[in-house]
Amino acid sequence: MILRLAAAAAAVALLAAPALAAPREGAKLDRIAKDFVRLTLEAGEREPGYVDAYYGPADWAAAAKARPREVPALRAETDRLAAALKAVDGKALRPDEVRRKAFLVGQVKAAQTRLAMLAGQKFSFQDEAEGLFGVRPPIKPLGAYDPILAEIDKLVPGQGDLATRVTAFQARYTIPADRLEPVMKAAIAECKARTEAHIALPKGERFDLAFVTKKPWSGYNWYKGGAQSLIEVNTDLPTPISRAVDLGCHEGYPGHHVLNALLEEKLTKAKGWVEFSVYPLFSPQSLIAEGSANYGVKLAFPGTEKVAFERRVLYPLAGLDPATAETYDALVRATADLASVQNTVADLYLSGKMDKEAAVAALAKYALTTRAKAEKSLSFIETYRSYVINYNLGQDMVRAHVERAGPSLDARWKRMEAVISQPTTPADLAR
Ligand SMILES: [Zn+2]
Repeated sequence: MILRLAAAAAAVALLAAPALAAPREGAKLDRIAKDFVRLTLEAGEREPGYVDAYYGPADWAAAAKARPREVPALRAETDRLAAALKAVDGKALRPDEVRRKAFLVGQVKAAQTRLAMLAGQKFSFQDEAEGLFGVRPPIKPLGAYDPILAEIDKLVPGQGDLATRVTAFQARYTIPADRLEPVMKAAIAECKARTEAHIALPKGERFDLAFVTKKPWSGYNWYKGGAQSLIEVNTDLPTPISRAVDLGCHEGYPGHHVLNALLEEKLTKAKGWVEFSVYPLFSPQSLIAEGSANYGVKLAFPGTEKVAFERRVLYPLAGLDPATAETYDALVRATADLASVQNTVADLYLSGKMDKEAAVAALAKYALTTRAKAEKSLSFIETYRSYVINYNLGQDMVRAHVERAGPSLDARWKRMEAVISQPTTPADLAR
């Protein structure tokens, strides 16, 4: 009787509202997303650093910690999720769900690749980058950077090795250790003010700033959830004055802190899309995050506004001579085109075509740095491997995408906000 009644009620519901009878296609994505978060948390138990940030349910993290599946089982799960995503009918999804699906496809592909690497599978540099970050980086030969070095040579006249001359020149622009905190705080405050003028930031968003040592990176944003970040600045090596705004925008505004806070507010909370509560470091999300964080500097300080701000506010705070700010800025801008040297050296070194000594020498020569800094760069490459492409190629892709909005700054900020507050894949940036 009960059964019959239930069947009759179901039949009536079917006639009255057919859409309610079958689960919406988008609901399949909810299930896949939940399983993806569990998979990611468990993979994080198999590889330290796999999970960059997580602020979802605490019991999911506890369960992953207590019973993480072995790598082969996790690999099988990524294959299952990839097949499940393939079976989701894109034509039955809302436009925002189409983006959500594309994002999940890239994240799952990255998990397949990273777990294969954990299982001992070897990839070429380009295959690894494509599997993890969703884009195949072009690799230029080192000689392609020689004309840029020749241009920089003209900016820093003198005898002897160019990298030595450049680093001696740069040393005059180091922020004294006891001025680092006020300079960093002033830089971040300006980055925030410029971002807030264009993007409504989540209520109560905030960050803590800490200075650390003995890390392979120069700065890091640890996103804590609830619109809060811990920004760490590494003081192992001297911090040049030009890095203050770079770090403030990159780690803070409109960079990592804002991206994470907006994704949490607009996707995790507003739509219940749990996959955004976890951030697997080796995934296309990092290309979007690093690319937008680096491009954010140019967006927040267009044209000569960065050097103007540095000269007016940061140089006096750091006790440096503002009269020479433009000279130093010209050098900083000229060296920007050398950024993708990291990809070339990483490719050669990780594939065994270049030994450690030669890799350090190549980084010192082509990134125009001291040996100590080149060693730091190589230690970053050893730790993060093809992740290096996210900074330069990611930035180029985000810049091209945002600047296709036209010359209006408002239009560019609007595009940037879309990049950092919606599911965005590297393929979306090609549009
Ligand atoms: Zn970053």
